[in-house]
Amino acid sequence: MHIVTLDPSKGHELEAGVVVVGSGPAGAAAAFAVAQAGLAPLVIEEGALFEPSRLGQDGFRALSQLYRDLGGSLTSGPAPTPFLQGRAVGGTSVMNGAISWRLPKHVHEEWCRDDPSLEGSLPFDLVETVTDEVETRLNIRPTPPGIAGRNNELLAQGAQNLGLEHRPISRNVRGCEGRGQCIEGCPAGRKLSMDRSYLEAASVLGARVLPETTVLAVEHDGRRARGIIARTRGGHPLRIRAKVVILAASAVQTPVLLLRSGLVRPPTGFGFQAHPGVSVSGFFEAPVEVWRGATQGHEVIGLVHEGIKIEALGFDRAIASTRLLGVGQRLEEAMAQLAHYAFFGAAIRARARGRVSVGLRGKPRVEYSLLEEDLSKMRRAVSVLGQLMLAAGAERVFPGVHGFAAEVRHPVAMQAIERTGRLSPRAYQSVITHMFGTARMGSVRESAVVRPDFRHHDLDRLYVADSSVFPSNTGVNPQTSILALATLCGREVARAQA
Ligand SMILES: Cc1cc2nc3c(=O)[nH]c(=O)nc-3n(C[C@H](O)[C@H](O)[C@H](O)COP(=O)(O)OP(=O)(O)OC[C@H]3O[C@@H](n4cnc5c(N)ncnc54)[C@H](O)[C@@H]3O)c2cc1C
Repeated sequence: MHIVTLDPSKGHELEAGVVVVGSGPAGAAAAFAVAQAGLAPLVIEEGALFEPSRLGQDGFRALSQLYRDLGGSLTSGPAPTPFLQGRAVGGTSVMNGAISWRLPKHVHEEWCRDDPSLEGSLPFDLVETVTDEVETRLNIRPTPPGIAGRNNELLAQGAQNLGLEHRPISRNVRGCEGRGQCIEGCPAGRKLSMDRSYLEAASVLGARVLPETTVLAVEHDGRRARGIIARTRGGHPLRIRAKVVILAASAVQTPVLLLRSGLVRPPTGFGFQAHPGVSVSGFFEAPVEVWRGATQGHEVIGLVHEGIKIEALGFDRAIASTRLLGVGQRLEEAMAQLAHYAFFGAAIRARARGRVSVGLRGKPRVEYSLLEEDLSKMRRAVSVLGQLMLAAGAERVFPGVHGFAAEVRHPVAMQAIERTGRLSPRAYQSVITHMFGTARMGSVRESAVVRPDFRHHDLDRLYVADSSVFPSNTGVNPQTSILALATLCGREVARAQA
Protein backbone atom coordinates (compact mmCIF):
# COMPACT_ATOMS: atom_id res chain seq x y z
CA MET A 1 0.00 0.00 0.00
CA HIS A 2 1.23 3.49 -0.78
CA ILE A 3 1.39 5.14 2.66
CA VAL A 4 2.14 8.86 2.88
CA THR A 5 4.14 10.08 5.90
CA LEU A 6 4.32 13.72 6.95
CA ASP A 7 6.86 15.27 9.29
CA PRO A 8 4.86 15.13 12.58
CA SER A 9 6.71 18.07 14.13
CA LYS A 10 5.06 20.78 11.98
CA GLY A 11 1.92 21.78 10.08
CA HIS A 12 1.44 21.16 6.36
CA GLU A 13 -0.44 22.46 3.31
CA LEU A 14 -1.04 19.99 0.48
CA GLU A 15 -2.89 19.80 -2.81
CA ALA A 16 -4.81 16.78 -4.05
CA GLY A 17 -7.28 15.99 -6.81
CA VAL A 18 -9.73 13.82 -4.89
CA VAL A 19 -9.61 13.50 -1.09
CA VAL A 20 -11.42 10.57 0.54
CA VAL A 21 -12.09 10.81 4.30
CA GLY A 22 -12.07 7.36 5.92
CA SER A 23 -10.57 4.09 4.73
CA GLY A 24 -13.27 1.58 5.73
CA PRO A 25 -15.38 -0.27 3.15
CA ALA A 26 -16.96 2.98 1.90
CA GLY A 27 -13.72 4.95 1.57
CA ALA A 28 -11.74 2.05 0.15
CA ALA A 29 -14.33 1.18 -2.51
CA ALA A 30 -14.85 4.82 -3.51
CA ALA A 31 -11.06 5.34 -3.69
CA PHE A 32 -10.63 2.24 -5.83
CA ALA A 33 -13.33 3.35 -8.27
CA VAL A 34 -11.79 6.82 -8.50
CA ALA A 35 -8.30 5.35 -8.96
CA GLN A 36 -9.59 3.09 -11.74
CA ALA A 37 -10.53 6.27 -13.59
CA GLY A 38 -6.95 7.55 -13.21
CA LEU A 39 -7.75 10.23 -10.59
CA ALA A 40 -5.19 9.05 -7.92
CA PRO A 41 -7.12 9.84 -4.71
CA LEU A 42 -5.62 10.66 -1.32
CA VAL A 43 -7.33 8.65 1.46
CA ILE A 44 -7.14 10.20 4.94
CA GLU A 45 -7.60 7.91 7.92
CA GLU A 46 -7.60 8.68 11.63
CA GLY A 47 -6.43 5.20 12.64
CA ALA A 48 -3.09 3.48 12.08
CA LEU A 49 -2.06 0.69 9.74
CA PHE A 50 -1.90 -2.69 11.51
CA GLU A 51 0.07 -5.52 9.94
CA PRO A 52 -1.35 -8.98 10.76
CA SER A 53 1.62 -9.68 13.08
CA ARG A 54 0.29 -6.93 15.43
CA LEU A 55 -3.26 -8.36 15.46
CA GLY A 56 -5.17 -11.13 17.18
CA GLN A 57 -3.61 -10.87 20.63
CA ASP A 58 -6.73 -10.91 22.81
CA GLY A 59 -10.12 -9.23 22.83
CA PHE A 60 -9.23 -6.47 25.29
CA ARG A 61 -5.99 -5.58 23.50
CA ALA A 62 -7.98 -5.40 20.25
CA LEU A 63 -10.53 -3.06 21.83
CA SER A 64 -7.78 -0.64 22.85
CA GLN A 65 -5.85 -0.95 19.56
CA LEU A 66 -8.48 -1.01 16.89
CA TYR A 67 -11.79 0.25 18.23
CA ARG A 68 -12.88 3.87 18.49
CA ASP A 69 -13.12 5.01 22.14
CA LEU A 70 -11.77 1.57 23.18
CA GLY A 71 -15.13 0.11 22.15
CA GLY A 72 -16.84 2.32 24.75
CA SER A 73 -18.94 4.61 22.54
CA LEU A 74 -22.50 4.80 23.93
CA THR A 75 -25.79 6.08 22.58
CA SER A 76 -27.71 8.46 24.81
CA GLY A 77 -31.35 7.81 25.65
CA PRO A 78 -33.34 5.72 28.13
CA ALA A 79 -30.97 2.76 27.70
CA PRO A 80 -27.44 3.83 26.69
CA THR A 81 -26.25 1.19 24.22
CA PRO A 82 -22.66 0.55 23.08
CA PHE A 83 -22.02 1.16 19.39
CA LEU A 84 -18.80 -0.33 18.07
CA GLN A 85 -16.69 1.18 15.31
CA GLY A 86 -13.19 0.53 14.06
CA ARG A 87 -10.43 3.11 13.78
CA ALA A 88 -7.69 1.75 11.56
CA VAL A 89 -6.52 1.71 7.97
CA GLY A 90 -9.30 -0.48 6.58
CA GLY A 91 -11.86 0.87 9.06
CA THR A 92 -14.19 -1.56 10.79
CA SER A 93 -13.49 -4.21 8.12
CA VAL A 94 -10.23 -4.99 9.97
CA MET A 95 -12.11 -6.31 13.01
CA ASN A 96 -15.53 -7.30 11.68
CA GLY A 97 -16.97 -10.79 11.20
CA ALA A 98 -16.45 -10.81 7.39
CA ILE A 99 -20.12 -11.78 6.92
CA SER A 100 -21.33 -10.87 3.47
CA TRP A 101 -24.88 -10.12 2.35
CA ARG A 102 -26.11 -8.56 -0.86
CA LEU A 103 -28.55 -5.64 -0.61
CA PRO A 104 -31.95 -7.38 -0.31
CA LYS A 105 -34.31 -6.64 -3.20
CA HIS A 106 -37.22 -5.84 -0.86
CA VAL A 107 -35.10 -3.15 0.83
CA HIS A 108 -34.28 -1.59 -2.53
CA GLU A 109 -37.99 -1.70 -3.39
CA GLU A 110 -38.81 0.13 -0.13
CA TRP A 111 -36.27 2.83 -1.00
CA CYS A 112 -37.76 3.26 -4.47
CA ARG A 113 -41.30 3.32 -3.10
CA ASP A 114 -40.30 6.29 -0.91
CA ASP A 115 -38.38 8.02 -3.71
CA PRO A 116 -39.24 6.70 -7.20
CA SER A 117 -36.30 8.62 -8.73
CA LEU A 118 -33.95 6.03 -7.19
CA GLU A 119 -35.38 3.45 -9.58
CA GLY A 120 -33.69 5.35 -12.42
CA SER A 121 -30.52 6.59 -10.70
CA LEU A 122 -29.79 3.49 -8.60
CA PRO A 123 -31.49 0.60 -10.42
CA PHE A 124 -31.39 -2.75 -8.67
CA ASP A 125 -29.73 -4.42 -11.69
CA LEU A 126 -26.82 -1.99 -11.41
CA VAL A 127 -26.45 -2.66 -7.67
CA GLU A 128 -26.47 -6.39 -8.45
CA THR A 129 -23.80 -6.06 -11.15
CA VAL A 130 -21.50 -4.06 -8.87
CA THR A 131 -22.13 -6.53 -6.03
CA ASP A 132 -20.97 -9.34 -8.33
CA GLU A 133 -17.71 -7.42 -8.78
CA VAL A 134 -17.37 -6.98 -4.98
CA GLU A 135 -17.96 -10.69 -4.41
CA THR A 136 -15.29 -11.63 -6.93
CA ARG A 137 -12.71 -9.17 -5.56
CA LEU A 138 -13.28 -10.29 -1.97
CA ASN A 139 -13.47 -14.03 -2.72
CA ILE A 140 -16.87 -14.16 -1.00
CA ARG A 141 -18.05 -17.75 -0.55
CA PRO A 142 -19.73 -19.98 2.04
CA THR A 143 -17.75 -21.12 5.08
CA PRO A 144 -16.50 -24.67 4.37
CA PRO A 145 -17.36 -27.40 6.92
CA GLY A 146 -13.67 -28.03 7.68
CA ILE A 147 -13.24 -24.71 9.49
CA ALA A 148 -16.77 -24.19 10.82
CA GLY A 149 -16.02 -25.15 14.44
CA ARG A 150 -18.42 -26.57 17.05
CA ASN A 151 -20.23 -23.29 17.85
CA ASN A 152 -21.30 -22.96 14.20
CA GLU A 153 -22.22 -26.66 14.00
CA LEU A 154 -24.47 -26.31 17.06
CA LEU A 155 -26.39 -23.42 15.46
CA ALA A 156 -26.88 -25.55 12.33
CA GLN A 157 -28.10 -28.46 14.45
CA GLY A 158 -30.48 -26.31 16.51
CA ALA A 159 -31.98 -24.69 13.39
CA GLN A 160 -32.35 -28.07 11.70
CA ASN A 161 -34.18 -29.47 14.73
CA LEU A 162 -36.49 -26.44 14.92
CA GLY A 163 -37.14 -26.46 11.16
CA LEU A 164 -35.71 -22.96 10.61
CA GLU A 165 -33.94 -22.20 7.34
CA HIS A 166 -30.16 -21.93 7.89
CA ARG A 167 -26.90 -22.00 5.95
CA PRO A 168 -23.12 -21.50 6.21
CA ILE A 169 -22.23 -17.80 6.20
CA SER A 170 -20.59 -16.37 3.07
CA ARG A 171 -17.47 -14.43 4.08
CA ASN A 172 -14.72 -12.30 2.54
CA VAL A 173 -11.72 -14.46 3.42
CA ARG A 174 -9.05 -16.40 1.51
CA GLY A 175 -7.49 -19.48 3.10
CA CYS A 176 -9.24 -18.98 6.48
CA GLU A 177 -7.75 -21.30 9.10
CA GLY A 178 -10.68 -20.97 11.53
CA ARG A 179 -8.66 -19.24 14.26
CA GLY A 180 -11.81 -17.56 15.60
CA GLN A 181 -10.15 -14.14 15.81
CA CYS A 182 -12.01 -12.08 13.20
CA ILE A 183 -13.11 -9.47 15.72
CA GLU A 184 -9.56 -9.00 16.99
CA GLY A 185 -8.22 -8.64 13.43
CA CYS A 186 -6.92 -11.77 11.67
CA PRO A 187 -3.33 -12.47 12.77
CA ALA A 188 -2.87 -14.75 9.73
CA GLY A 189 -3.96 -12.01 7.31
CA ARG A 190 -6.64 -14.29 5.83
CA LYS A 191 -9.52 -11.84 6.05
CA LEU A 192 -9.83 -9.71 2.95
CA SER A 193 -10.38 -6.52 4.93
CA MET A 194 -9.92 -3.25 3.04
CA ASP A 195 -6.22 -2.92 3.91
CA ARG A 196 -5.65 -6.31 2.27
CA SER A 197 -7.92 -5.83 -0.75
CA TYR A 198 -9.43 -2.60 -2.06
CA LEU A 199 -6.78 -0.22 -0.66
CA GLU A 200 -3.94 -2.40 -2.01
CA ALA A 201 -5.61 -2.49 -5.42
CA ALA A 202 -6.26 1.27 -5.36
CA SER A 203 -2.60 1.92 -4.42
CA VAL A 204 -1.44 0.00 -7.48
CA LEU A 205 -3.52 2.47 -9.52
CA GLY A 206 -2.01 5.53 -7.83
CA ALA A 207 -4.06 6.03 -4.64
CA ARG A 208 -2.20 7.11 -1.49
CA VAL A 209 -3.20 6.61 2.14
CA LEU A 210 -2.42 9.12 4.91
CA PRO A 211 -2.99 7.39 8.29
CA GLU A 212 -3.17 8.77 11.84
CA THR A 213 -4.67 12.03 10.60
CA THR A 214 -7.99 13.42 11.87
CA VAL A 215 -10.16 15.41 9.50
CA LEU A 216 -11.91 18.22 11.37
CA ALA A 217 -14.07 19.82 8.68
CA VAL A 218 -14.67 20.31 4.97
CA GLU A 219 -13.50 23.65 3.62
CA HIS A 220 -15.97 25.31 1.26
CA ASP A 221 -17.12 28.68 -0.03
CA GLY A 222 -20.85 27.98 0.34
CA ARG A 223 -21.12 26.77 -3.24
CA ARG A 224 -18.47 24.08 -3.63
CA ALA A 225 -16.06 22.06 -1.51
CA ARG A 226 -12.49 23.36 -1.60
CA GLY A 227 -10.68 20.77 0.52
CA ILE A 228 -10.38 19.68 4.13
CA ILE A 229 -8.90 20.89 7.40
CA ALA A 230 -7.24 18.23 9.52
CA ARG A 231 -4.91 17.55 12.43
CA THR A 232 -1.72 15.56 11.93
CA ARG A 233 -0.39 12.73 14.08
CA GLY A 234 1.77 15.31 15.85
CA GLY A 235 -1.26 17.53 16.58
CA HIS A 236 -0.36 20.18 13.98
CA PRO A 237 -2.74 21.73 11.43
CA LEU A 238 -3.01 20.19 7.99
CA ARG A 239 -4.86 21.86 5.14
CA ILE A 240 -5.47 20.02 1.89
CA ARG A 241 -6.85 21.83 -1.14
CA ALA A 242 -8.81 19.43 -3.32
CA LYS A 243 -11.02 19.41 -6.38
CA VAL A 244 -13.41 16.89 -4.84
CA VAL A 245 -14.03 15.67 -1.27
CA ILE A 246 -15.66 12.29 -0.62
CA LEU A 247 -16.81 11.67 2.95
CA ALA A 248 -16.65 8.00 3.98
CA ALA A 249 -16.13 8.29 7.72
CA SER A 250 -19.18 6.12 8.67
CA ALA A 251 -22.82 6.83 9.45
CA VAL A 252 -21.82 8.32 12.82
CA GLN A 253 -18.69 10.32 11.93
CA THR A 254 -19.77 11.65 8.51
CA PRO A 255 -22.77 13.68 9.80
CA VAL A 256 -20.51 15.12 12.50
CA LEU A 257 -18.08 16.29 9.80
CA LEU A 258 -20.94 17.84 7.82
CA LEU A 259 -22.31 19.62 10.89
CA ARG A 260 -18.85 20.84 11.93
CA SER A 261 -18.43 22.24 8.41
CA GLY A 262 -21.52 24.41 8.82
CA LEU A 263 -23.68 22.11 6.68
CA VAL A 264 -26.40 21.89 9.28
CA ARG A 265 -29.60 21.83 7.26
CA PRO A 266 -31.93 18.97 8.35
CA PRO A 267 -32.07 16.06 7.80
CA THR A 268 -28.27 16.10 8.33
CA GLY A 269 -27.70 13.84 11.36
CA PHE A 270 -31.38 12.84 11.56
CA GLY A 271 -32.72 9.43 10.53
CA PHE A 272 -30.07 7.34 12.32
CA GLN A 273 -30.98 3.65 12.12
CA ALA A 274 -29.27 0.52 13.43
CA HIS A 275 -29.48 -3.23 13.89
CA PRO A 276 -29.22 -3.59 17.67
CA GLY A 277 -27.86 -7.04 18.46
CA VAL A 278 -28.73 -9.35 21.34
CA SER A 279 -27.06 -12.61 22.31
CA VAL A 280 -27.72 -15.69 24.40
CA SER A 281 -25.26 -18.18 25.89
CA GLY A 282 -25.76 -21.86 26.55
CA PHE A 283 -23.94 -24.55 28.49
CA PHE A 284 -23.25 -27.87 26.76
CA GLU A 285 -22.06 -31.11 28.32
CA ALA A 286 -19.41 -31.62 25.62
CA PRO A 287 -16.81 -28.87 25.04
CA VAL A 288 -17.67 -26.25 22.39
CA GLU A 289 -14.48 -24.15 22.51
CA VAL A 290 -16.13 -21.09 21.05
CA TRP A 291 -12.68 -19.67 20.18
CA ARG A 292 -12.07 -22.39 17.57
CA GLY A 293 -13.41 -22.27 14.02
CA ALA A 294 -14.71 -19.43 11.85
CA THR A 295 -15.76 -16.62 14.21
CA GLN A 296 -19.15 -16.36 12.54
CA GLY A 297 -19.63 -19.29 10.19
CA HIS A 298 -23.34 -20.16 10.32
CA GLU A 299 -26.60 -18.19 10.17
CA VAL A 300 -30.36 -18.70 10.43
CA ILE A 301 -32.11 -16.94 7.56
CA GLY A 302 -35.65 -18.18 8.19
CA LEU A 303 -36.57 -15.06 10.21
CA VAL A 304 -34.92 -12.36 8.09
CA HIS A 305 -38.36 -11.44 6.71
CA GLU A 306 -39.40 -10.61 10.32
CA GLY A 307 -36.33 -8.41 10.79
CA ILE A 308 -34.43 -10.97 12.86
CA LYS A 309 -31.05 -12.18 11.55
CA ILE A 310 -29.40 -14.93 13.66
CA GLU A 311 -25.69 -15.84 13.67
CA ALA A 312 -23.26 -17.99 15.64
CA LEU A 313 -20.92 -15.74 17.67
CA GLY A 314 -17.31 -16.73 18.27
CA PHE A 315 -15.24 -15.00 20.95
CA ASP A 316 -11.72 -15.36 22.28
CA ARG A 317 -11.38 -16.57 25.88
CA ALA A 318 -11.02 -13.03 27.29
CA ILE A 319 -14.28 -11.73 25.81
CA ALA A 320 -16.12 -15.06 26.31
CA SER A 321 -15.30 -14.96 30.02
CA THR A 322 -17.02 -11.58 30.42
CA ARG A 323 -20.30 -13.21 29.36
CA LEU A 324 -20.42 -15.62 32.30
CA LEU A 325 -22.86 -15.20 35.17
CA GLY A 326 -22.18 -14.97 38.87
CA VAL A 327 -19.45 -13.83 41.20
CA GLY A 328 -17.10 -15.55 43.66
CA GLN A 329 -17.14 -19.32 43.65
CA ARG A 330 -19.95 -19.49 41.08
CA LEU A 331 -17.94 -17.42 38.61
CA GLU A 332 -14.82 -19.45 39.36
CA GLU A 333 -16.68 -22.66 38.50
CA ALA A 334 -18.11 -21.15 35.33
CA MET A 335 -14.62 -19.96 34.30
CA ALA A 336 -13.24 -23.48 34.75
CA GLN A 337 -15.92 -24.67 32.31
CA LEU A 338 -15.59 -21.85 29.79
CA ALA A 339 -14.96 -24.34 26.98
CA HIS A 340 -18.53 -25.67 27.40
CA TYR A 341 -20.31 -22.41 26.51
CA ALA A 342 -21.78 -21.54 23.10
CA PHE A 343 -22.98 -18.09 21.97
CA PHE A 344 -25.62 -17.19 19.36
CA GLY A 345 -26.65 -13.63 18.46
CA ALA A 346 -29.40 -11.84 16.54
CA ALA A 347 -29.38 -8.50 14.75
CA ILE A 348 -32.73 -6.72 14.79
CA ARG A 349 -34.02 -4.56 11.95
CA ALA A 350 -35.26 -1.87 14.33
CA ARG A 351 -37.59 0.80 12.95
CA ALA A 352 -36.55 3.42 15.51
CA ARG A 353 -34.82 6.48 14.12
CA GLY A 354 -32.36 8.49 16.17
CA ARG A 355 -30.15 11.50 15.65
CA VAL A 356 -26.42 12.19 15.47
CA SER A 357 -25.33 15.67 16.55
CA VAL A 358 -22.10 17.28 17.69
CA GLY A 359 -21.55 16.67 21.37
CA LEU A 360 -18.85 17.49 23.90
CA ARG A 361 -15.39 18.24 22.48
CA GLY A 362 -16.77 17.90 18.95
CA LYS A 363 -17.53 14.20 19.39
CA PRO A 364 -20.70 12.56 18.11
CA ARG A 365 -23.74 12.42 20.31
CA VAL A 366 -26.07 9.62 19.20
CA GLU A 367 -29.62 9.85 20.53
CA TYR A 368 -31.42 6.58 20.00
CA SER A 369 -34.25 4.76 21.72
CA LEU A 370 -36.08 1.68 20.53
CA LEU A 371 -39.80 1.60 19.73
CA GLU A 372 -42.13 -0.88 21.39
CA GLU A 373 -42.35 -2.88 18.15
CA ASP A 374 -38.52 -3.13 18.11
CA LEU A 375 -38.52 -4.43 21.66
CA SER A 376 -41.16 -7.03 20.75
CA LYS A 377 -38.85 -8.20 17.98
CA MET A 378 -35.94 -8.23 20.38
CA ARG A 379 -37.68 -10.43 22.93
CA ARG A 380 -38.81 -12.77 20.16
CA ALA A 381 -35.19 -12.97 19.00
CA VAL A 382 -33.96 -13.83 22.51
CA SER A 383 -36.66 -16.48 22.79
CA VAL A 384 -35.70 -18.09 19.47
CA LEU A 385 -31.97 -17.93 20.31
CA GLY A 386 -32.61 -19.83 23.53
CA GLN A 387 -34.82 -22.38 21.77
CA LEU A 388 -32.07 -22.92 19.20
CA MET A 389 -29.58 -23.57 22.00
CA LEU A 390 -31.88 -26.10 23.66
CA ALA A 391 -32.69 -27.76 20.33
CA ALA A 392 -28.93 -28.14 19.78
CA GLY A 393 -28.64 -29.99 23.11
CA ALA A 394 -27.75 -27.24 25.63
CA GLU A 395 -28.22 -28.27 29.26
CA ARG A 396 -28.88 -24.69 30.35
CA VAL A 397 -29.46 -21.39 28.59
CA PHE A 398 -28.73 -17.91 29.96
CA PRO A 399 -31.14 -15.49 28.24
CA GLY A 400 -29.62 -12.36 29.78
CA VAL A 401 -32.99 -10.57 30.03
CA HIS A 402 -33.45 -8.43 33.13
CA GLY A 403 -36.49 -9.50 35.15
CA PHE A 404 -36.56 -12.98 33.64
CA ALA A 405 -35.09 -16.27 34.92
CA ALA A 406 -31.29 -16.12 34.75
CA GLU A 407 -31.11 -19.76 33.71
CA VAL A 408 -33.57 -21.77 31.58
CA ARG A 409 -33.61 -25.52 30.93
CA HIS A 410 -36.86 -26.04 29.03
CA PRO A 411 -38.08 -24.73 25.64
CA VAL A 412 -41.50 -23.83 27.05
CA ALA A 413 -39.84 -21.45 29.50
CA MET A 414 -37.77 -19.98 26.67
CA GLN A 415 -40.91 -19.48 24.56
CA ALA A 416 -42.46 -17.54 27.44
CA ILE A 417 -39.98 -14.67 26.94
CA GLU A 418 -41.71 -13.90 23.66
CA ARG A 419 -44.91 -13.09 25.57
CA THR A 420 -43.71 -11.95 28.97
CA GLY A 421 -40.23 -10.46 28.39
CA ARG A 422 -40.28 -6.81 29.46
CA LEU A 423 -40.84 -4.24 26.75
CA SER A 424 -38.21 -1.95 28.19
CA PRO A 425 -34.90 -1.28 26.42
CA ARG A 426 -33.18 -1.52 29.81
CA ALA A 427 -34.15 -5.19 30.08
CA TYR A 428 -31.92 -6.26 27.17
CA GLN A 429 -28.15 -6.15 26.80
CA SER A 430 -27.77 -5.01 23.24
CA VAL A 431 -24.86 -3.79 21.16
CA ILE A 432 -24.95 -1.86 17.88
CA THR A 433 -22.51 -2.65 15.06
CA HIS A 434 -24.48 -1.65 11.91
CA MET A 435 -25.48 2.00 11.38
CA PHE A 436 -27.29 3.91 8.62
CA GLY A 437 -29.25 6.88 7.39
CA THR A 438 -27.75 10.12 8.79
CA ALA A 439 -27.13 11.86 5.44
CA ARG A 440 -29.83 10.17 3.43
CA MET A 441 -29.97 10.08 -0.33
CA GLY A 442 -32.98 11.47 -2.17
CA SER A 443 -34.09 13.63 -5.04
CA VAL A 444 -36.07 16.08 -2.88
CA ARG A 445 -33.68 18.55 -1.23
CA GLU A 446 -35.94 19.20 1.79
CA SER A 447 -35.88 15.56 2.88
CA ALA A 448 -32.40 14.47 1.81
CA VAL A 449 -28.77 15.43 2.29
CA VAL A 450 -27.24 13.99 -0.88
CA ARG A 451 -28.68 13.66 -4.35
CA PRO A 452 -29.25 10.27 -5.96
CA ASP A 453 -25.75 10.63 -7.49
CA PHE A 454 -24.20 10.87 -3.95
CA ARG A 455 -23.45 14.61 -4.40
CA HIS A 456 -24.37 16.95 -1.54
CA HIS A 457 -27.59 18.85 -2.27
CA ASP A 458 -26.14 22.23 -1.28
CA LEU A 459 -22.45 21.94 -2.08
CA ASP A 460 -20.89 21.01 -5.36
CA ARG A 461 -17.90 18.64 -5.40
CA LEU A 462 -18.77 17.16 -2.01
CA TYR A 463 -19.90 13.51 -2.02
CA VAL A 464 -20.92 11.04 0.69
CA ALA A 465 -20.07 7.37 0.07
CA ASP A 466 -20.92 5.52 3.31
CA SER A 467 -24.11 4.10 4.81
CA SER A 468 -25.12 7.59 5.97
CA VAL A 469 -26.74 7.82 2.53
CA PHE A 470 -28.83 4.64 2.92
CA PRO A 471 -32.48 5.71 3.20
CA SER A 472 -33.02 2.95 5.81
CA ASN A 473 -31.37 0.02 7.52
CA THR A 474 -31.21 -3.20 5.51
CA GLY A 475 -31.93 -5.99 7.99
CA VAL A 476 -28.75 -7.80 6.94
CA ASN A 477 -25.01 -7.31 7.44
CA PRO A 478 -24.20 -4.10 5.55
CA GLN A 479 -20.56 -4.27 4.43
CA THR A 480 -21.19 -5.67 0.94
CA SER A 481 -24.01 -3.20 0.22
CA ILE A 482 -21.78 -0.36 1.42
CA LEU A 483 -19.00 -1.56 -0.91
CA ALA A 484 -21.41 -1.70 -3.83
CA LEU A 485 -22.93 1.75 -3.27
CA ALA A 486 -19.55 3.38 -2.52
CA THR A 487 -18.22 1.93 -5.79
CA LEU A 488 -21.09 3.66 -7.57
CA CYS A 489 -20.31 6.88 -5.69
CA GLY A 490 -16.65 6.69 -6.83
CA ARG A 491 -17.80 6.13 -10.41
CA GLU A 492 -20.10 9.17 -10.22
CA VAL A 493 -17.16 11.29 -9.04
CA ALA A 494 -15.02 10.00 -11.91
CA ARG A 495 -17.82 10.65 -14.42
CA ALA A 496 -18.34 14.20 -13.15
CA GLN A 497 -14.59 14.92 -13.35
CA ALA A 498 -14.14 13.47 -16.84
C1 LIG B 1 -17.46 -5.90 15.74
C2 LIG B 1 -18.12 -5.64 14.40
C3 LIG B 1 -18.40 -6.71 13.56
C4 LIG B 1 -19.03 -6.49 12.33
N1 LIG B 1 -19.22 -7.55 11.49
C5 LIG B 1 -19.74 -7.33 10.25
C6 LIG B 1 -19.86 -8.40 9.33
O1 LIG B 1 -19.46 -9.52 9.62
N2 LIG B 1 -20.42 -8.12 8.12
C7 LIG B 1 -20.87 -6.88 7.78
O2 LIG B 1 -21.42 -6.71 6.68
N3 LIG B 1 -20.73 -5.85 8.63
C8 LIG B 1 -20.15 -6.03 9.84
N4 LIG B 1 -19.97 -4.97 10.68
C9 LIG B 1 -20.34 -3.63 10.21
C10 LIG B 1 -19.37 -3.14 9.14
O3 LIG B 1 -18.04 -3.39 9.52
C11 LIG B 1 -19.61 -1.64 8.93
O4 LIG B 1 -20.95 -1.46 8.52
C12 LIG B 1 -18.70 -1.07 7.86
O5 LIG B 1 -17.34 -1.26 8.17
C13 LIG B 1 -18.98 0.43 7.70
O6 LIG B 1 -18.13 0.91 6.68
P1 LIG B 1 -17.73 2.46 6.60
O7 LIG B 1 -16.66 2.56 5.60
O8 LIG B 1 -18.96 3.25 6.44
O9 LIG B 1 -17.20 2.83 8.07
P2 LIG B 1 -15.95 2.24 8.87
O10 LIG B 1 -15.64 0.87 8.45
O11 LIG B 1 -16.28 2.47 10.30
O12 LIG B 1 -14.73 3.17 8.42
C14 LIG B 1 -14.72 4.55 8.67
C15 LIG B 1 -13.28 4.98 8.85
O13 LIG B 1 -13.24 6.40 8.85
C16 LIG B 1 -12.31 6.83 9.82
N5 LIG B 1 -12.69 8.17 10.27
C17 LIG B 1 -13.82 8.54 10.92
N6 LIG B 1 -13.81 9.85 11.18
C18 LIG B 1 -12.65 10.33 10.67
C19 LIG B 1 -12.08 11.61 10.64
N7 LIG B 1 -12.69 12.68 11.17
N8 LIG B 1 -10.86 11.75 10.06
C20 LIG B 1 -10.22 10.69 9.50
N9 LIG B 1 -10.74 9.44 9.51
C21 LIG B 1 -11.94 9.27 10.09
C22 LIG B 1 -12.45 5.82 10.92
O14 LIG B 1 -11.29 5.82 11.74
C23 LIG B 1 -12.66 4.53 10.16
O15 LIG B 1 -11.46 3.85 9.96
C24 LIG B 1 -19.38 -5.17 11.93
C25 LIG B 1 -19.10 -4.10 12.78
C26 LIG B 1 -18.48 -4.32 14.00
C27 LIG B 1 -18.18 -3.15 14.89
